[in-house]
Amino acid sequence: MNKADSDRLAWRLGQLGYQQVGRAEEADLVILNSCVVRQSAEDKVVNKLANLRPLKMKRPDLILALTGCMVDSQTEKLKSRFPFVDFFLKPQEFDPLLTYAEEKSSGLERNPSFPSSLPPTTFVPIIQGCNNFCTYCIVPYRRGREKSRPMSEIIREVQDFVQRGVKEVTLLGQNVDSYGHDLPDKPDLADLLQELNQIEGLLRIRFLTSHPKDMTQKLIEAVASLDKVCEHISLPVQAGDNEILKVMRRGYTIEQYKELVARIRSTIPEVALSTDVIVGFPSETREQFQHTVDLIRELRFDVVHVAAYSPRPGTIASRKFEDNVPLAEKRARLQELERIQENIAAEINAGLLGREVEVLVEGKKKGKWQGRTRTDKLVFFESEADCLGQLVKVKIEHTSPWSLQGKLIKH
Ligand code: SAM
Ligand code: SF4
Repeated sequence: MNKADSDRLAWRLGQLGYQQVGRAEEADLVILNSCVVRQSAEDKVVNKLANLRPLKMKRPDLILALTGCMVDSQTEKLKSRFPFVDFFLKPQEFDPLLTYAEEKSSGLERNPSFPSSLPPTTFVPIIQGCNNFCTYCIVPYRRGREKSRPMSEIIREVQDFVQRGVKEVTLLGQNVDSYGHDLPDKPDLADLLQELNQIEGLLRIRFLTSHPKDMTQKLIEAVASLDKVCEHISLPVQAGDNEILKVMRRGYTIEQYKELVARIRSTIPEVALSTDVIVGFPSETREQFQHTVDLIRELRFDVVHVAAYSPRPGTIASRKFEDNVPLAEKRARLQELERIQENIAAEINAGLLGREVEVLVEGKKKGKWQGRTRTDKLVFFESEADCLGQLVKVKIEHTSPWSLQGKLIKH
């Protein structure tokens, strides 16, 4: 979501005549888009701010802005902590900065070719905020309650993107499965997918993140039947133990989760599943952690994002439960899960050796083209031709737990 917000802000600044530069030293305006989902993310922002301070002292005309989830309603506190920052903007509330940037840019030359084309893949937020209040999570406090964008607005935006070269959209939300419940006609995500699937020139549609308690059969069937909707579902489980799931307030049991995965897999052949897991939640025993290990081994996800529990001030968990799993133990559990998942991903990806996959090419890295399969696997290949934004066929010749390499067979 932060990446999507940053892209949008960069694009609006680009329209005003601003250009991106590689280093803060060369910039007139520096914006930090912060994440505070874990302490480590917050520390990174604080360090970056500390590093920018001397530059601001040397060049008082440099404008510094902080946005993202670090900015809550108590901006006074942030102002006294970081007095050298000029703007504090709550997530997506960029208007004060844009107004200022517009005034400052009146002397700038508009770039006439901007924005003639966009990258082949882009994010489209469809629902903001979250109503779930999982006990560990800061998101509902910083991004507010759920607010869906009207379907017509999203469709218009995607049509416009496609006109400017976009081939793939990823619909974004903390919980995309609850899309539409707050809109007058109560459309749902399946209805939106159905409409977007008809847009000519659009090749692929993805969505994330799904919530296991809200995923409907209708949505699963929409993914199976709509040709542009990719066979990839991000379905965070968070823990493999029912007691822990209950104190996390996730709203489902492991039995329900497994039943859902079975239904997804039987309805959508070759679907790729990814998940998120938190280890070291307050009072998580070794045995409870073992249940998570068992689940990961049993369900064999394509990707597992593992995080060590990090208490977030203001959340229910930080108020009610002691953060009592030692850091070393959290790290050991995280590494154990990552090791297990690395082997599983290696095995799953090795199954693609020799197969021909369809890749949407997103760009070039270290001289090689890179893109993704419909199942979200990263693929690298070499070609002298300009493949950007093309759907190509690649024969897989080498696999690893994280990516695939192959030979271009059809352009
Ligand atoms: N809405 C999604 C869901 O329901 O899982 C994910 C949103 S959250 C911003 C992204 C991931 O960060 C979560 O899946 C979770 O694993 C992790 N996360 C959130 N709060 C955390 C915390 N306090 N400590 C560690 N990891 C956390
Ligand atoms: Fe956070 Fe839970 Fe909402 Fe996801 S569903 S954003 S984890 S509160």
